[in-house]
Amino acid sequence: MQQDDFHADALSLETLAVRAGHVRTAEQEHGEPIFTTSSFVYRSAAEAARKFGGEEPGNIYSRFTNPTVRIFEQRLAALEGGERCVATSSGMAAILSTVLALLEAGDEIVASRSLFGSTVSLFSKYLGKFGITTRYVELGNLEAWEAAITPRTKLLFAETPSNPLSELVDIAALAEIAHHHGALLAIDNCFLTPALQRPLALGADLVIHSATKYLDGQGRAIGGAVVGRDKELEEVFGVVRTCGPCLSPFNAWIFLKGLETLSLRMRAHCDNALALAQWLEAHPAVERVHYSGLESHPQHALARQQQSGFGAVLGVEIRGEREGAWSVIDATQLMSITGNLGDVKTTITHPATTTHGRLSDEQKASAGIREGLVRIAVGLEALDDLKADLARGLDALA
Ligand SMILES: *Cc1c(COP(=O)(O)O)cnc(C)c1O
Repeated sequence: MQQDDFHADALSLETLAVRAGHVRTAEQEHGEPIFTTSSFVYRSAAEAARKFGGEEPGNIYSRFTNPTVRIFEQRLAALEGGERCVATSSGMAAILSTVLALLEAGDEIVASRSLFGSTVSLFSKYLGKFGITTRYVELGNLEAWEAAITPRTKLLFAETPSNPLSELVDIAALAEIAHHHGALLAIDNCFLTPALQRPLALGADLVIHSATKYLDGQGRAIGGAVVGRDKELEEVFGVVRTCGPCLSPFNAWIFLKGLETLSLRMRAHCDNALALAQWLEAHPAVERVHYSGLESHPQHALARQQQSGFGAVLGVEIRGEREGAWSVIDATQLMSITGNLGDVKTTITHPATTTHGRLSDEQKASAGIREGLVRIAVGLEALDDLKADLARGLDALA
C-alpha cells in the first residue's frame, strides 16, 4: 500500500488479501510488479559497501530479498497476524528452514502422528541424521503431548485439522503446554489458511504454509512460507538467505493473485464440502464421513470454537474395503485421481495405497487409514455435478 496512514490492524482479512504489501514504484503501476532480476545495483562503491555491511537496508541479491517476494511475505504476514513472514521455495522448505533455524543437535521435536508424509520423512530420516529426534503423539491427546516433552524439547509441531481424518487439536491449550515447558509451537495451517483459522492469535508461535495448496488454490506453482515473530523469523530468514530455498518472484506473484480471492474461494470450498459431506453421510454405501463440519464429528464443538470454517478435505469410509473404495474412485469421470489438494478442481485419492502407502499395516491401523477410506478434497465445481460423479460408483455398491 502506498498510503502512509495504512494500518493493517484496522482492516479486515478480505481487504488485506487484496491490498497489503504493495508499495507502488515510481511507475505508478496498479498491479503488483514481477521483479525478474537476480541482483540489484548501487549508485556508488560506498553505497554497495554500506548495503553489504548491513548499515543501509536495501536489495542486494534475490536469494536474500526480492521486491515481489516481499509483497507476498507482507501480505501473508498481515493475513496471519504475524510480525514477519519468510517465503520459501516449497512447503517442505518452510518446515526445513524453521527447524534448521531454531534447533540444534540434541534437541527434540514432539509432533502429531498424523502429519503430511514428507514431514514425517524429514523429521525421522533426515533430522535424525543430525541428532534431532522426534517423538510422535496422538494429535488430539493433550496429555500425550505433555508426557512426550523432555527438557530437550524445543518444538511442538502439528497440523490441524489432520489429513485425511480431520482430527483436531486445541491450539490454545497446546500453546500453553509448549510455553510452560519452554518450547515453541508450530502449526501447519495449510488445510484451513488464515481465512478460516489464525493459529498465532490462538497462541501458536509459528505458522507454516505450503502455498502450493489453497494460497495459490489453482494448482499452478510450488511454494511455502513461515510466519511469526521477528525474533524467530530473523533466524529463519538467515537460513533461507544462506542455504537458498528462496521463492521465485514469478511464483510469489502467482500466490499474490491467489491470496486476492482466498476468502471467497475458501468459503465456496467449505460450502461445497459441507453439503457433499452431509449427502455422503446419508448414503447407504458410506460407512462414515470424517469432516469437522459434521455434527457427528467428535470434535465439532472445538472446530466451531477455533476455526471460522471447516475446510474442504473429507475422509470417506466406503463399504467393501479396498475394492469398494477403488470402484468409487474409478467410476468418477469429473474428479481428478491425484494425491494433491487445495485446488479449484476436486481431487480424489485412496490414502492406504498412495499418500500413506509407505506405512506398515500396523502404522496404518494406528493412524486410522483403513482400506475403505477415500479422501476427497472438494473443489469449486457445481455440487450437483460432484454428487452425480460419486453416485455412479456408490449406487452400484449400495
Ligand atoms: C503439501 C503439504 C506440505 C508440503 O508442501 P510442498 O509445497 O508440497 O512442499 C506440508 N504440509 C501439508 C499439510 C501439506 O499438505
